[in-house]
Amino acid sequence: MTTEGAAGAKTSLKLGCIADDFTGATDLANNLVRAGMRVVQTIGVPEQALTTPDDAVVVALKSRTLPPQQAVAQSLAALHWLKAQGAQQIYFKYCSTFDSVYTGEARGNIGPVTEALMDALGVDFTVATPAFPDNQRSVFKGHLFVGDVLLAESGMRNHPLTPMTDSNLVRVMQAQCQRKVGLLDYSVVAQGEAAIAQGVQQLRAQGVGIAIVDALSNADLLVLGRALASLPLLTAGSGLAIGLPANFLVQPSAFASTLPAAQGFTAVLSGSCSVATNAQVRHFIDAGLAAFAIDPLELAGGANLVKQALDWASERLGRQPVLLYSTADATAVKAAQARLGVQAAGELVEQAIARIAKGLVERGVGQLIVAGGETSGACVQALGIDRMQVGMQVAPGVPWCHAVTGLDRRPLHLLLKSGNFGAPDIFSRAFDLLS
Ligand code: ADP
Repeated sequence: MTTEGAAGAKTSLKLGCIADDFTGATDLANNLVRAGMRVVQTIGVPEQALTTPDDAVVVALKSRTLPPQQAVAQSLAALHWLKAQGAQQIYFKYCSTFDSVYTGEARGNIGPVTEALMDALGVDFTVATPAFPDNQRSVFKGHLFVGDVLLAESGMRNHPLTPMTDSNLVRVMQAQCQRKVGLLDYSVVAQGEAAIAQGVQQLRAQGVGIAIVDALSNADLLVLGRALASLPLLTAGSGLAIGLPANFLVQPSAFASTLPAAQGFTAVLSGSCSVATNAQVRHFIDAGLAAFAIDPLELAGGANLVKQALDWASERLGRQPVLLYSTADATAVKAAQARLGVQAAGELVEQAIARIAKGLVERGVGQLIVAGGETSGACVQALGIDRMQVGMQVAPGVPWCHAVTGLDRRPLHLLLKSGNFGAPDIFSRAFDLLS
């Protein structure tokens, strides 16, 4: 089925997705591609109409830590754009730990965004489930488990920006919502599609507007995907998405993840200091490949490390990938933060790496890996990228993407790896997969 897009162009857009952060958007896109959809991820709400025949668009916002009013405004802008492109079903994607801003008056913005989307779409019922079994997130009796422990007993209890101290999602969501929040219990979900449809009718009859949904496995999510096919709005982590493409008669296929042929030199930029990224940088260096270290204290001291790094890379770009990294262990990071401040150290490094990204592409790099969520955001911005075609998965949640940059419209294959994702050999494995 095709529909008229905003500019009158025929589009075949099936799912329109709104993600509350950048790497979360990639995670969702990756699940949809694996289930057979052609997916574009946009950075923010596009100004122009969709011109490619994609099955799904994921609009990546940075709204998770925004006050509710701003998060609502951004989400509604995304909704209006997606509807104008002909999206048949809307999916609001948040974190699988159900966290969002929680300071002062704001008791979270998942509820306010959900209700604003319901109002705009004129719907009286939707669901909410962050269940993502592949990532050890399950919901039972409305309680969210992270691995073997309840959410409020997990590390999320002490998250600096978005602490989660209650595992009961019905309670958490009700505190954020005007509408009545209920529970679609596992005893119903386990009985399959017909029981779920009946359960939804009962909840509606009880005046429930938003139902937290229990799910423990991918099998549950697949059944739920079928059972909830007719709801105009779904809200979830990335897990519920695995069952949706089949509703649009889309089957897994190699075509979904096909990207243009890779070209240009290969490079890795790493600004992540996670345990996994430290191991990946070590693995790369131990393999005898060329690496250039970026030290925040040297940067702060005024050294022109961006020029030095680009001069160094220019001499080495060729058959083998090069790595430029600020990745350091916890002790070194703490020392830099103590001298410069946490925020200032982070921004200094992000901006330096972003300028290096731009310089590398100008020097002929066509395949670029960026490690680090915030670092990726800074690089994508510096490269003038506003949308990416999402391709094949390299590791869970980490797909290769393809973009046209703002630098003379040079094409670029881009792999954005957040924090703890990926095995130690992901950098070399990723390039092997493209060749
Ligand atoms: P992750 O996905 O692992 O959280 P991010 O890029 O989101 O990675 O965050 C890492 C942050 O640490 C960035 O702000 C980055 O600029 C900063 N950073 C990188 N290297 C260093 C370092 N050596 N010392 C202090 N801060 C650093």
